[in-house]
Amino acid sequence: MNSLNKLTTQVVRPRFVADLGFYQELKRRVQQCVEQHKVSRREFRALHVKTVVMLCWFVLSYVLLVFVAANVWQALASSLSLALAIAGIGFNIQHDANHGAYSDRPILNRTLGFSLDLLGASSYVWHYKHNILHHTYTNLSRWDDDIDLGFFGRLSPAQRRRPIYRVQQYYLWLVYGFLGPKWHFVDDFVNIIQGRIGRSQFRRPKGWELIGLIGGKLAFVTIAFLVPLIKHSFWQIGLFYAITWFIAGGVVGVVFQLAHCVEGPIFPILPSDARIQSSWAVHQVQSTVNFAPRNKFLTWYLGGLNHQIEHHLFPSLPHVHYSRISKEVRAVCAEFGVRYFAHDSMFRAIVSHFQWLRRMGKCTDSAVTCPLQACDL
Ligand SMILES: [Zn+2]
Repeated sequence: MNSLNKLTTQVVRPRFVADLGFYQELKRRVQQCVEQHKVSRREFRALHVKTVVMLCWFVLSYVLLVFVAANVWQALASSLSLALAIAGIGFNIQHDANHGAYSDRPILNRTLGFSLDLLGASSYVWHYKHNILHHTYTNLSRWDDDIDLGFFGRLSPAQRRRPIYRVQQYYLWLVYGFLGPKWHFVDDFVNIIQGRIGRSQFRRPKGWELIGLIGGKLAFVTIAFLVPLIKHSFWQIGLFYAITWFIAGGVVGVVFQLAHCVEGPIFPILPSDARIQSSWAVHQVQSTVNFAPRNKFLTWYLGGLNHQIEHHLFPSLPHVHYSRISKEVRAVCAEFGVRYFAHDSMFRAIVSHFQWLRRMGKCTDSAVTCPLQACDL
């Protein structure tokens, strides 16, 4: 929350009411839980093994796609594998590292956090966009960049409605596939040129930060486009860049949407004094949803992002702890009367996202005055 102060805003920044003991109790119980189960060394080993697996998966898929694939089917299979490895690195390595959760050593977090730059998106911009704005103002339109699809869709009752959104539940799944190119060639540059993300101004990178950002973009261009030129033509590279990133972006986009843009979470509409009627911690629980919490494979592959409530409450805790602390979090929520919601399976969460998109597409009231209850199901 300290880094929130580094953001300056042109408009009144939303404020939360004071915490009435909920977060204090959560922190106490979660701390106890983590200390009780002194298995962290084993778990950290699992995290390190997973890191090696993900990186080897990426390198192997890349080599197969660029240098080995002998026909279009082999290239497509390698492209699919590479896309899933890219998403896996995003979920398991860069996300923890850029939250400072991967290790107690900041240098290791910074180094692994740079994996996001190697995948083409700036970890500098991500810090403001994700760690600060998304993790503070979750589901608040014009503050949480993750729910802003611009012209393409409407995810919140506070956003403007257009006739085309009546069918957004069918086409938005394809729009998520363009997340990668949007990060690579649009968002980072627009944000830095404007010095702004949504409504929030942020400090432009200087010195080593700028060198890291430019170096990351150049490294990405080298890996994605220049190295493949050794063996392939421009159009082949462009085609497989598009296929790979369409799959990777689609997977990442859907996983992020399942945690917030489904039936259940709140999407507060800010009053004129920008005061949110709940504390930060309560808001995090109410604006977030877990899915498939007992699915071990998903928990492994998604880097615990199916336990988003725990992640939003304790973003600097390594994701290997989320399953364990979720019991405590649920118990404290029940004690304080805070609604804790989880979909049993990923399929249920996907259906719920579809239903949410349909609800937002049908809602007939205009932007700011559209309360959720007024939407026509
Ligand atoms: Zn996060």
